[in-house]
Amino acid sequence: MIWDTHAHLDDPDYAEDFQEVVARLLSSGITRVTNVGYDLASSERSVKLSQDYDFIYAAIGIHPHNAEGATDETWAKLLLLAKQPKVLAWGEIGLDYYRDLSPRSIQKEIFIQQIKLANEVGLPIVIHNRDAHQDVLEIVKAHPPKYGGVFHCYSGSLEMAAILLNLGFYLSFAGPVTYKNARHTVEVAGNVPLDRILVETDSPYLTPEPRRGKRNEPTYVREVVKKIAEIRKIPFEDLASQTMLNAATLFGIHKK
Ligand SMILES: [Zn+2]
Repeated sequence: MIWDTHAHLDDPDYAEDFQEVVARLLSSGITRVTNVGYDLASSERSVKLSQDYDFIYAAIGIHPHNAEGATDETWAKLLLLAKQPKVLAWGEIGLDYYRDLSPRSIQKEIFIQQIKLANEVGLPIVIHNRDAHQDVLEIVKAHPPKYGGVFHCYSGSLEMAAILLNLGFYLSFAGPVTYKNARHTVEVAGNVPLDRILVETDSPYLTPEPRRGKRNEPTYVREVVKKIAEIRKIPFEDLASQTMLNAATLFGIHKK
């Protein structure tokens, strides 16, 4: 049993063969998928998917790319979505200084605002951080998420990982841990305490080896589990069940 903790199955890339993607993941032992929103519309689609499919859960939020244009109405609608029974997290939120699609000041402002909203409704947060390590760290220190959180597709250093683990965060690994140039990520994945690791695909992006470059789907989270189990020298099944338990703990699924 594996939990793909971060996917975007509402992406148009799946319009043609969604049912086949679902059939494949279910027959590959993927028993849960968290579908993650990045704007209001995708948050609504995530909630809809969680209503239509037993194995799908939702996260809702505004990605830093879409930081501009969020209004009071956006927040009001997200707060309503947050109360839906299978919404387990607020995200993905954070900072992206790599693509810089929104002004940094606005990215920071809505990141902070959404941590506050997550605290208000009792949800953990899903953090997207690209080339913004210092500012993300400052913000989560100044505005700690009360219900914890996960750094999705963790790409930082071992030093930063140590700080985040101390602050109580989980680190989630995706396809890049299988890439040939992933020396740093492999090092981190080998050192994070086993009870703080999550696995994900970020489908349709970040396809693990050996399919790198093609469309990703939750079934391939098995490659991520396989790689980290190899790094840790533990059985595949042990890592799968441990990461399942970790996700259940972070997402507070027992309470839902
Ligand atoms: Zn994502």
